[in-house]
Amino acid sequence: MLCLRRTYAKIYLDNLLFNAENYKKLLPPTTELMCVVKADAYGHGVKEIAAALQKRADVKWFAVSNIDEARELRECGITGEILILGYTPPEEADSLIQNDILQACLNEEYARELGSAATSGKVRVHIKLDTGMSRIGIDCSDIKNAADEAQRIYSADGISVEGLFTHLCTADSDDPDDIEFTHSQINKFNGVKNELISRGFDTGVCHFANSAAGVYGYAEGSDLARLGIILYGLYPNHALKVPMEMKPVLELFSTVAEVKTVRAGASIGYGRTFTADRDIRVATITVGYADGYPRLLSNRGEVLINGNRCPILGRVCMDQIMADVSGVDVTPGDEVVLIGKSKDQQITSDDIADLCDTIGYEVTCDITKRVPKLFIENGEVTAVE
Ligand SMILES: *Cc1c(COP(=O)(O)O)cnc(C)c1O
Repeated sequence: MLCLRRTYAKIYLDNLLFNAENYKKLLPPTTELMCVVKADAYGHGVKEIAAALQKRADVKWFAVSNIDEARELRECGITGEILILGYTPPEEADSLIQNDILQACLNEEYARELGSAATSGKVRVHIKLDTGMSRIGIDCSDIKNAADEAQRIYSADGISVEGLFTHLCTADSDDPDDIEFTHSQINKFNGVKNELISRGFDTGVCHFANSAAGVYGYAEGSDLARLGIILYGLYPNHALKVPMEMKPVLELFSTVAEVKTVRAGASIGYGRTFTADRDIRVATITVGYADGYPRLLSNRGEVLINGNRCPILGRVCMDQIMADVSGVDVTPGDEVVLIGKSKDQQITSDDIADLCDTIGYEVTCDITKRVPKLFIENGEVTAVE
């Protein structure tokens, strides 16, 4: 039996579906949803997340980062298309075929290695075009050269090309240079696509939109919108509003272990980085960086207890933190909200990310497997993981 009185997460599947439905309303009618569930669904628990999307939102397309994640989806009953966005070792070609998984094709050399490793059929691929991210894919700085390379992938043995895609790197920015860059990426993508069509190739399913592209009006002409962060109710860029209502899917809770008075002049925690300048009440809370609670919140973050914002004092330890609860009605065993709402107060993963100079994506991905998850549908716990 799991102990749910230490640190645990609640995953609200209704909020997940709410976000997906609202996002869909912003898409052009010909753009379908591809739900990005890599990294254990951004730390939310991929089994339950993917199952809810398939069962309750009729999602037909999923994306993951690697073949283990893809096989995990198949094992838990996902029947729709699964695209691996990143590298898969060529020796896994037959596993891709047997599990009917779509693979990103990085470049011509990769296509040859992958195709020649396939012994049981053809590997289905979407060719990745590099239009400005400089990560993976065919270099599209010259449209004709890029189309030549793509053309050679079409004719590679053991490879079946079913689509093209690229990734936008500044679709979440309102800076004019970034906006221009995004347009140039989409233009390069369409340039290569149209060149291939004019040479008689079937370009299949063509997609370039991520979460940000869908909400900031770039999804026109993208057959799929690869919806990641907004699915989980977080911002592609916290500084920029999105024109839709969304609800965070994850909340993180912990528990007060002890409450005590720390006298003026006493220090708190490792390194003695905080010294009380007066007598204060301090709560020790059962969460630490081993749960994925960022150590960068030392002397910086806050937690919510009974609707009060309580500053973290001293360093975040591996398994515990201390917070200032002076003047707050609190006793051992009380619930602590680390991410989520308490009365009229709220802390989001994006708020925590701001304090740690990172993005909400990293905050939820970093929650460790020590933290049990309760999956909630219609206010009822339907699964525990
Ligand atoms: C992770 C990823 C996405 C999803 O990005 P979000 O910003 O979370 O929507 C889409 N496409 C690719 C290629 C990715 O790697």
